Amino acid sequence: MNKQSALDGLTKTELAGRSQQAEAEALFTSMGDGAIATDEFGRITRVNPAAQKLLGYKAKELVGAWFPKKIIAVTEDDKPVNLVDRPITRAFLTGQPVSEKTFYRRKNGRAIALAINVSPIVLKGRPLGAIEIFRDITLEQEIDRMKSEFISLASHQLRTPLSAIKTYSHMLFDGYLGKLNSAQKKSLGTIIGATNRMNELISTLLNITLMESGSIDIKPKTLKLDKVAREVVHDLSLMAGNKSINFSAAVKGQGNAAVKTDGLIVKEILTNLASNAIKYTPEKGSVKLVVRPRKTNVIVDVIDSGWGIPRHAQDQIFSKFFRAQNIVKRETTGTGLGLYLVKGLVDALGGRIWFTSYEGKGTTFSFSLPRQVKLSDPDESEV
Ligand code: ADP
Repeated sequence: MNKQSALDGLTKTELAGRSQQAEAEALFTSMGDGAIATDEFGRITRVNPAAQKLLGYKAKELVGAWFPKKIIAVTEDDKPVNLVDRPITRAFLTGQPVSEKTFYRRKNGRAIALAINVSPIVLKGRPLGAIEIFRDITLEQEIDRMKSEFISLASHQLRTPLSAIKTYSHMLFDGYLGKLNSAQKKSLGTIIGATNRMNELISTLLNITLMESGSIDIKPKTLKLDKVAREVVHDLSLMAGNKSINFSAAVKGQGNAAVKTDGLIVKEILTNLASNAIKYTPEKGSVKLVVRPRKTNVIVDVIDSGWGIPRHAQDQIFSKFFRAQNIVKRETTGTGLGLYLVKGLVDALGGRIWFTSYEGKGTTFSFSLPRQVKLSDPDESEV
């Protein structure tokens, strides 16, 4: 006798629908990442086993509860995250997926670091709910922290002997310990140059560590970008002069070049771009800094008449350690870290950076900075 199956009598379309539902169910349940589904009001409808394990709740304790109330998101220092700032709220409000790193408080009260991805479910423009997927990143964060700590410690330790080398080389160079002949002076000049480069490298490494760990300290102050540009021209005039490069700063247009941002970071950005321009421009060329105030932001162009960036290398120019072949052939010293740092710093100030370059003709790097930097922590904007 044939047994009657629950699927008998279904149409082909119904059968396909059921099969898709079963697949989605299996995927949801067996996923290694935590997954929580909500209805259009943010009430939890389903919780997979991985989510239960990560948060320490049983499904029945969560289902039916209002997501933001039951699952508490906290900051690194354990302060509750505002409802409007929560990824799930933003996903509902914008109808767009939101990815973020945050901390959730587990049932036992301990916070757990998670990478979260919330996707709203929208059908014909109507929100039906959302699915939040999250992954434990405690170990990743710990490794990151250890890496940063190591680089920062190593850099600080390297600085101490280096400053002794620098002080004594200068004393020797200036003749305080006896007169030197020209060959000795030349060798000392090379030692001083190498020490300066090493100092710069250590600063770059420290800055990259801070940037990558998101702990750059931004101290906004009102400053005029044309003034910063003139300072950079002054600071690098010797470097440009050694190559007989015509190096200048100018403002284009009538607007005001004032921005409320971090002066030290802006100087680091502009110094990096300008010293690259000087380094990668042949003798008797020109490097010009042009400040262009606009309504909502100020743009700074660093225009050089140098060797340029080959077209095929342009995609990789902001990558860590990247140096283009045309430059490696001419200039052996360099790390390929400068532009990677510059891009991270411009991002941290809420700006944008781009460039145009023609090999053999020259390069223009431009960055824009908003009139006022936005700080991620609202408490800090009062400073
Ligand atoms: P570094 O200057 O130490 O090599 P950067 O990260 O500052 O490192 O620059 C990466 C690469 O980008 C350089 O090696 C060079 O190939 C290219 N580059 C940067 N600025 C310029 C420029 N103004 N003109 C031509 N090439 C440039």
